[in-house]
Amino acid sequence: VKSRGKNGYDFFDPTMEAKSLERILMENEMRKAIEQEQFQIYYQPKIDIATSAMTGMEALVRWVHPELGIIPPNRFIPIAEETGMILALGEWILKQACKQNKIWHDQGYTLKVSVNLSARQIYQKDLVEMIKDILQETNLSPNWLELEITESIFVKMEEATAVLQQIRDIGIQISIDDFGTGYSSFSYIKSLPVDTIKIDASFIRDIHHNQESQAIVKAIVTIAQSLNMNVIAEGIELHDQVAALKENGCDHGQGYLFSKPLPTDDFDQLLRQEQQ
Ligand code: C2E
Ligand code: CA
Ligand code: CA
Ligand code: CA
Repeated sequence: VKSRGKNGYDFFDPTMEAKSLERILMENEMRKAIEQEQFQIYYQPKIDIATSAMTGMEALVRWVHPELGIIPPNRFIPIAEETGMILALGEWILKQACKQNKIWHDQGYTLKVSVNLSARQIYQKDLVEMIKDILQETNLSPNWLELEITESIFVKMEEATAVLQQIRDIGIQISIDDFGTGYSSFSYIKSLPVDTIKIDASFIRDIHHNQESQAIVKAIVTIAQSLNMNVIAEGIELHDQVAALKENGCDHGQGYLFSKPLPTDDFDQLLRQEQQ
């Protein structure tokens, strides 16, 4: 295994602001948490709305702290990004998700796993090498991996696009998360190397009784079709929302209506039930 300078991430980066004591403590806590396997991956199904069949699952990390219990990602991912710990954590998450998906594949459950990637990881020098190493190590075919990015990665448009292109060249798919929330979404989408548009939950929340949300979803679906991209809606909680999505041409979804994110063992049981 190649060394990636484990403790050396950004250590001598003079542009970085001095870290506060709190951040340093948090960073140490997280490093310990990775070593002690306090992080866990939950999986949430992605569904083909027409058939209700599962097409894949999104890996979502949780920190199961020995004293504090389950800490949701919104509480620690931003800190992990600020401290740079997201690089080590992100690598761990990707490896776990690929390893687990390979296990499911070997058992006959051939689904695509989606892993969230932060902006910070996109600008990590050896990201592509790291991904290749993990695929090789876990023996998962790149076709069964998707990476979810948000438009926040496009602060350096050319650089980000080049990295995504390299990732796609491996055979991995790219999905753009939270789509529609950024002010420039529609103007840049055509030039992005992405396979799937994930419509932000804010448009799904009221789609069954709000014509504007319907119009936006319809517009996103139309654009996606013309660009040969797939669409998926996130945050589906109601049957009425499913009906409105169908009406507006969106054929894939994800949300509590189908299943909450589940720990590995529970997701494993769900797979076995589905197959019956
Ligand atoms: P996201 O990628 O947009 O993930 C969707 C979030 O919505 C998840 O929250 C999921 O549990 C939640 N969700 C799914 N279906 C529903 C629904 O029907 N209703 C509602 N109200 N919520 C639903 P979670 O797991 O707490 O993750 C929050 C955010 O943290 C994620 O947003 C993502 O930005 C980040 N995150 C989670 N896991 C990872 C990870 O492994 N790596 C990175 N870089 N970020 C992660
Ligand atoms: Ca996501
Ligand atoms: Ca999202
Ligand atoms: Ca989000």
